[in-house]
Amino acid sequence: MTEDAAVLPADPRADTLAHGDAVRAAIERVLSGGHYIQGPEGEAFEEAFAGWLGAAHAVGTASGTDAIELGLRVLDIGPGDAVVTVSHTAVATVAAIERAGALPVLVDVDPERYTLDPDCLAALLEDLAGDPGPLGGRRLRAVLPVHLYGQPADMPAILEICRRHGLRVIEDCAQAHGASLDGRRAGTWGDCAAFSFYPTKNLGALGDAGALVTGDAELAARARRLREYGWASRVSQEPGINSRLDELQAAILNAKLPHLDADNDRRCAIAEAYRAGLGSCALGLPAVAPGAHHVYHQFVVRSTQRDALQAHLRRHGIHCLVHYPMAVHQQPAYRGRLPAPGPGLGHTETLVREILSLPLYPTLPDTHQERVLAALAAWRPAGGGS
Ligand SMILES: *Cc1c(COP(=O)(O)O)cnc(C)c1O
Repeated sequence: MTEDAAVLPADPRADTLAHGDAVRAAIERVLSGGHYIQGPEGEAFEEAFAGWLGAAHAVGTASGTDAIELGLRVLDIGPGDAVVTVSHTAVATVAAIERAGALPVLVDVDPERYTLDPDCLAALLEDLAGDPGPLGGRRLRAVLPVHLYGQPADMPAILEICRRHGLRVIEDCAQAHGASLDGRRAGTWGDCAAFSFYPTKNLGALGDAGALVTGDAELAARARRLREYGWASRVSQEPGINSRLDELQAAILNAKLPHLDADNDRRCAIAEAYRAGLGSCALGLPAVAPGAHHVYHQFVVRSTQRDALQAHLRRHGIHCLVHYPMAVHQQPAYRGRLPAPGPGLGHTETLVREILSLPLYPTLPDTHQERVLAALAAWRPAGGGS
């Protein structure tokens, strides 16, 4: 047992204090400014974030989950509709589809990149064409790929299939601020895209916050109405919700956005050091698809003895999390409820038993990373497996 400080899986406190002066000034601005909801900070952040991303419009929301729900609702997707997504994701992805009133339909992930497998999507659509029974009379309207861990899904292949079948595309970018594929940013491929600014995300607030991004001015205008009771000039034109980005979180995001590229660079440098240090270890390392820029929201390794590996690291004072210990369809709230026609969820179910996220955040001290590498070098899997 080591006497050293614990190595944390993430440290939003240190990441925020690294920009502490700007964050304190932002909080002071709101305190003395007198606008707390829908004011200049929110407007400035929407413009700055859209500009940083290279998208036409960003609409601030109270969370990433709300942004997904609003993305579905602006596309008129709701009761009577079904939406394809993955089960290997944060439960929020699936929860947002149900909150919009639609049925989530689950498809497997690619075993290398861990994101929605276009071949499985094609097989699922073929299956449903032969037997639409699993949809229970609902109409399949959209596909919701998740750019998990910071790596974009195979968007060209997914978009091609969606175009052929007349399906809308909503991207879940909650873990992919700054990721790109073939030079094109995650969040600019689909009809719209949802971002989360939960404190541990690549861009994090000091509370809940999110944004819906789109290239379509009408979708953006509708999202602005729906996030505030369906209001236009304070009269409800359609039933909406309350999901506004508050001024305090927007101000903090304005203070942190200018550092996002440097923070992402630091995440990539840490990932490369893991890769170099783990080359001879019997662990599965994350694969980066050709043309992909991975922003390492997580650095996820694989071992058939994951639980023993996690316990080994814990004995060295290293705290690792699993993202996520159960696929969505395995969790009590969803078990047996969500259709997964076609080839099923075999890769997802194998993955969730083997994955482990190594500590990675922009201010991770080098000494902590060295301790992780040393502990992994001392790891002896039983029976010599991985
Ligand atoms: C964090 C996350 C969300 C939800 O965002 P919140 O801001 O927590 O509501 C959705 N999808 C994925 C993949 C996430 O990681």
